[in-house]
Amino acid sequence: MLLTRFPRAVLTTLPTPLEKLDRLSAYLGGVNVWVKRDDLTGMGGGGNKVRKLEYLLGEALAQGADAIITQGAVQSNHVRQTVAAASKLGLPTYAILERRIKDTAANFEVTGNVLLDHLFGIKAVRFVAGGTDMNKEMAIEAEKLKALGKKPYIIPGGGSNVVGALGYVHAALELANQAVEQQLKIDHVVVASGSSGTHAGLAAGFKAFSTQVNLVGISVRQPEAVQIPKVADEAGKIAEFLGVAAVAAKDIIVNSDYVGAGYGVPAEHTWEAVVLAAQLEGLILDPVYTGKAFAGLLGLVRSGAFKKGENVVFFHTGGGFGLFAYEEPLLEYLKAHPELAVNAA
Ligand SMILES: *Cc1c(COP(=O)(O)O)cnc(C)c1O
Repeated sequence: MLLTRFPRAVLTTLPTPLEKLDRLSAYLGGVNVWVKRDDLTGMGGGGNKVRKLEYLLGEALAQGADAIITQGAVQSNHVRQTVAAASKLGLPTYAILERRIKDTAANFEVTGNVLLDHLFGIKAVRFVAGGTDMNKEMAIEAEKLKALGKKPYIIPGGGSNVVGALGYVHAALELANQAVEQQLKIDHVVVASGSSGTHAGLAAGFKAFSTQVNLVGISVRQPEAVQIPKVADEAGKIAEFLGVAAVAAKDIIVNSDYVGAGYGVPAEHTWEAVVLAAQLEGLILDPVYTGKAFAGLLGLVRSGAFKKGENVVFFHTGGGFGLFAYEEPLLEYLKAHPELAVNAA
């Protein structure tokens, strides 16, 4: 079978719900907006990394690993989900956190995801300067653990390699099945595009299952010229690994108009998206990934790229705990935009 030949540590109950956002669809004038609730993957507070970790930790266990090494930005959702999942499987996590963002709040290295890293029992955490070669740092960590007689398993940033991306090939199949069950013709799928495994896994999966949806990745960091080849390269490797239809650069769509000032720096439109989703639908988006991706969805509806009557699925990849590391700008935005309040006259 396409996916069951790979070891998988089951960490969550699938499928995640596919729900229609009625108030938001009405607010946007008749485009049908749906949400794929990958914020509800449960494990460790949920999010997209859980799907990748099922295959990554499945492989780690199959190889007899007894320690996990990974890395991310300080407020990494990936690291938080990795620590929770690895702890549940009895594996200690050693993480390296990159100070990737300048001008952060005073509590940035304590609150939000970092607090949860500790709660879930992170074994060791080391903060390094922005721009550090994170793969090299993980290799150094691995050598140290091997010298102590351990068998470490390295999970790359964001869990993005062909094994991790199997989780999103799986998700593509799952969404295609839900569309059949709900008699839904999906026109567009919108997803945040970061370390690329989510976007690339979906691209390879949609292509393999001939779903013919228009998959749009909203970049959270890199310009299109960097992100497109990155995602295409990853998707190509996944297709080859699985032995399914090849994915080319022309199959990959990236929009980098919503990055703002850079990774982890929310723009006005990021906060607008976060507040609209919260006040119209009770959804918690985050300031680093889903806020930007949802701002992209709003922008594409407003520019007419997504049309009245079309069905657009937003992949909610989680991340809401990151809001606690951005308390001040969120409160400022809310104060400056009382007209978005749900009961405004
Ligand atoms: C990691 C992450 C993403 C991006 O996924 P990639 O596979 O790294 O591109 C999107 N949303 C949230 C909340 C994330 O934590």
